[in-house]
Amino acid sequence: MPARLTKLERTGLPHRVEAARPIADPRKRLLRVIELLEANLGVAVWDGRKDALEVLVLTILSQNTTDPNALRGYQNLAAHLPGKHTGKDAATLPRDAAGNVDKVKLRLSNAATAVEPPDWPRVAQLTQKQLADYIRAAGLPDSKSGAILALLAWLKQTVGDYSLDAAIEQLGVDASMDALSGLKGIGVKTVSVTLIEALGADLCPVDTHVHRIVNRLGVVDTKAQRDKTFALLKPMIPPGRAYSLHHNLLTFGRTVCTAKKPDCANCFLRKLCPSAKALIDAGEAR
Ligand code: SF4
Repeated sequence: MPARLTKLERTGLPHRVEAARPIADPRKRLLRVIELLEANLGVAVWDGRKDALEVLVLTILSQNTTDPNALRGYQNLAAHLPGKHTGKDAATLPRDAAGNVDKVKLRLSNAATAVEPPDWPRVAQLTQKQLADYIRAAGLPDSKSGAILALLAWLKQTVGDYSLDAAIEQLGVDASMDALSGLKGIGVKTVSVTLIEALGADLCPVDTHVHRIVNRLGVVDTKAQRDKTFALLKPMIPPGRAYSLHHNLLTFGRTVCTAKKPDCANCFLRKLCPSAKALIDAGEAR
């Protein structure tokens, strides 16, 4: 049976728990934030190993676009250059009432368990223009095709095959992160998302939500430098808590601590948050 697409799993019974007082030390504040996020949103649990190359290519395709668009580009590529049949079944993707892929429930990393991959050796032989044409539905086809071809060339050179799992096993997580994030078009966030979703690495990728929230909470002060946020945050997170922190901050950033008009008045982290008063006083909060 093909692996079924699963939604993000969470354990625990979330209930409303509020911050009681300010905490001066940013590291201790982060720990309290982790506890309060888990108490209010549950503990997000990694849902199992996936092929790292498939997750990374899907993640590259998802840059600056929606997950359904990224998936369309990936499926179009696989339809034109099909790989060996592995028994994956796209019918297990979540669907809305109209039968389209459900934009809310779709998790791109899990699409790797539901969608047949392309034939990577044949993809590696394409010109950049040919690949760009196949993945056009995902947007930015020129830069994304360049990134994918650079990745495949690096794999061939590093392990003699198109296996990112083999490369990570050979180099280790930290060296793989350095090498992959040095390839054009593949940044630290894209690699760290791949490592947590494909391998369950104990990392908290820093996307726009994570960056904004930990800065508002005064855990770091990194302004526009997202990769610096990742480097500073990494040693501050207690072992085993990074995966749940990442997913809880995504949920929190989409619902409460939104980019515009965060809901500071009803936020369970408000008493810990050095930005709340200024946002409320300036009328920039809901
Ligand atoms: S109080 Fe406001 S700014 Fe601070 S974490 Fe909550 S929603 Fe975000």
